Amino acid sequence: MLQAHETKSPSVGDAAASAILTIDLDAIRENCRRLKARLNGVRCAGVLKADGYGLGANQVAAALAKEGCDIFFVALLVEGVALRQALGPAPAIYVLNGIPPGAEGLAVAAGLCAVINSPEQLAAWRAAAGNAGRKLPTAVQVDSGMSRLGIAPSDVERLAADPQAFDGIDVTYVMSHLACADEPRNPANEQQRLAFERLRKLLPKAPSSFTNSSGIFLGPSYHYDLARPGAALYGINPTPADPNPMLPVARLEARVVQTRMLEAGVGVGYGHTFHSTAPLPTATISLGYADGWHRRASAAAFFEGVRLPFLGRVSMDSIILDISALPPGKLKGGDLVELLGPSQSVDDAAGHAGTIGYEVLTSLGHRFERHYIGG
Ligand SMILES: *Cc1c(COP(=O)(O)O)cnc(C)c1O
Repeated sequence: MLQAHETKSPSVGDAAASAILTIDLDAIRENCRRLKARLNGVRCAGVLKADGYGLGANQVAAALAKEGCDIFFVALLVEGVALRQALGPAPAIYVLNGIPPGAEGLAVAAGLCAVINSPEQLAAWRAAAGNAGRKLPTAVQVDSGMSRLGIAPSDVERLAADPQAFDGIDVTYVMSHLACADEPRNPANEQQRLAFERLRKLLPKAPSSFTNSSGIFLGPSYHYDLARPGAALYGINPTPADPNPMLPVARLEARVVQTRMLEAGVGVGYGHTFHSTAPLPTATISLGYADGWHRRASAAAFFEGVRLPFLGRVSMDSIILDISALPPGKLKGGDLVELLGPSQSVDDAAGHAGTIGYEVLTSLGHRFERHYIGG
């Protein structure tokens, strides 16, 4: 059994750590409550794929369980097996990408629920139910217009005409996934909803699940019987055009290795993409692209709220900061600067890197000291 506090790198303690990632489990719980308040009694699952969006699936699951959450979604079979070991037999764990061909027995033994995305997955799961000698709880995913995962509309119609298609299958949910939920005015949302309405009625009668984080904010007609938020639980803004209604969850701080006073006219970092034009105080911090901080992100760090821009390129293990905004001597080797936190949100950092908050979080490395607070 995995321990809830287990991490992927050895803990050396704060004083020795090169960077510290603090994950606020109380904020995740509060975000869960805020989503539930909008869902008005509709059930709310937790999406824990990619190790809980990089923040620790086991710890996040334990925190969500305290909010009454007993349905979880992962992407991969291997994630489901690990989560089952950590959580014990009670919660339902759905595998979004479905079960790889031939691995159905493993999924049954781990007590995992398949998400069926194709007639082939359905046939293999039906056979697994026969082998197990019992009905297997299953979500059937239809493609309502994202063209990524899910049974195509023409196949849904074919299956609907086959009375044996769902033998041995206990359809616990009919589900689909929105492609443009973070764009409330995009007509694709309503087109997908109407397609889902039509397709779900062709399948065995079951509760329906349609919405991710952003979809919750599209209104009650998108909620159905079970919401599947991920991003919003982790503090990513589900309504990018508006202020973030969620609490921030992750705080990332990196250690100052050394401070320097550069002379005028020197090149800084790999490729000398920056040259000083005047004497310039700098700090080099212990965090780089190997920690998941995008090399192309022209961002900044913060010290006591003061912005310290990056100079030159991000290295594998270090970044050089312009600290001229601070009084001389204020920042010293051993101090911590903020990369994610009150001064720079996950969404801010993503904007600097030309990406989305999801990628910032799931890229976070495992050389950090990881702290969980609350929960
Ligand atoms: C990732 C995912 C979710 C969660 O989406 P968020 O935007 O993170 O809330 C829900 N459903 C499916 C099928 C997914 O792949």
